[in-house]
Amino acid sequence: MEENKTQGEILREKLFHKKENGWEHTSEERKNEIYAYCDGYMDFMNRSKTEREIVESVKEMAEAKGFRDIQTVEKINPGDKVYYINKEKSMYLAVIGTKSMEEGLNIIGAHGDSPRLDLKPNPIYEDGGFAYFKTHYYGGIKKYQWTTIPLAIHGVIVKTNGEKIKVCIGEDKKDPIFTITDLLPHLAQEQMDKKIRDAIPGENLNLLIGSIPFADSKVGEKVKLNILNILNQKYGVTEKDFLSAEIELVPAFEARSLGIDGSMIAAYGQDDKVCVYTATTAILEMEKPETTAICIISDKEEIGSMGNTGMESRVFDTFISELLNKGEGNQPNRLEKVFCHSKMLSADVDAGFDPIYAQVSEKNNASFIGRGIGMNKYTGARGKSGASDANAEFVAEVRSIFEANDVAYQIAELGKVDVGGGGTIAYILANKGIDVIDCGVPVLSMHSPYEVTSKFDVYEAYRAYHAFYQSKK
Ligand code: MN
Ligand code: MN
Repeated sequence: MEENKTQGEILREKLFHKKENGWEHTSEERKNEIYAYCDGYMDFMNRSKTEREIVESVKEMAEAKGFRDIQTVEKINPGDKVYYINKEKSMYLAVIGTKSMEEGLNIIGAHGDSPRLDLKPNPIYEDGGFAYFKTHYYGGIKKYQWTTIPLAIHGVIVKTNGEKIKVCIGEDKKDPIFTITDLLPHLAQEQMDKKIRDAIPGENLNLLIGSIPFADSKVGEKVKLNILNILNQKYGVTEKDFLSAEIELVPAFEARSLGIDGSMIAAYGQDDKVCVYTATTAILEMEKPETTAICIISDKEEIGSMGNTGMESRVFDTFISELLNKGEGNQPNRLEKVFCHSKMLSADVDAGFDPIYAQVSEKNNASFIGRGIGMNKYTGARGKSGASDANAEFVAEVRSIFEANDVAYQIAELGKVDVGGGGTIAYILANKGIDVIDCGVPVLSMHSPYEVTSKFDVYEAYRAYHAFYQSKK
């Protein structure tokens, strides 16, 4: 009906960048596909709440698709699928392409760690007839959000003889859960006058773990003794064994569909486990691509990517060197060349526009829930400080891949200029010479115990990553 349109309407259609709600163009059939995919995602979330559990779940999924531990493989050929697990906390997967790796890799990198509360090394104490665990928060949290919610205990206790005891209490319906108490409003006058950041001091994040005293009038700290006795009977540990433990407190909530239309997902740890799942399911489908496909599941992103399981470590370089050693062969400088010719999507969540807090976003440059995957050309703070600004040429290349595959995407900034900022692992890989852009799912209530995403965006992330892995240079 071109003749019924005005000149302005025709021009507008041709020239304006239309930003549309993805559901409006989603068929019933596609919607069912999206919901089914997200059921798988929610299952994954319910069995993978910590970085160690993420690695276990991905290993299981990968092995079911024919991936092998690179340490058990002598020679690598095109089409081979391998993985490497670093200290049970971070992981790399690869599907070897038909082209030389020196022509570059297609990399997608996410992180498996999420904000949480860790136990201190000397956690157990008794006060006022209660036993508690002292905690130390991990990552950027709003402390008040972590009180008065059900929490579960996940982690490992390692004894001096090397024995590793896995602990998980609070996930099974028959298990008890734990919580951190808060003051009743009736007596909170002083607390309520404080700034939110100061209202709950870090030292008040103490987990309530028991209240029955050990039946012996001759000993002190009877409640603590009773708890240690239960732990000793169940796990064979003593108080001292907590010195070499990594116990994490995570929300005991299940991942659930959200909304009367069921269009969204509420879950703990979607930053960045949503990108772990979507990137993993994308690479697991690859069969002998042209370009070697790599998936990174990094650790420690929430506290700066340091340490030997963080992205700053050299372990990723060692993995790629090993692919060369066991594959087409290595030589001086080849690793650096591989990186300089590689492309990467830094798969990390984006701040979704929240109408209730619209003042922190600039609407023209915000990611919207339900409009597809969100890309950040740069992150950083103030004058882009700390950002690895993606090159326009690379942004165009990624756009063309997404457009050719009908992937819904948006390019945005993380909030208004001067309001704040953030960072991802992007710059670490960019420093090696790789072309990198941040590209992930928009989230509401990021870093809270119950983060929100749109099922539409989760599925588009999976489709986007799949298209990227299959792209040809
Ligand atoms: Mn993240
Ligand atoms: Mn984060």
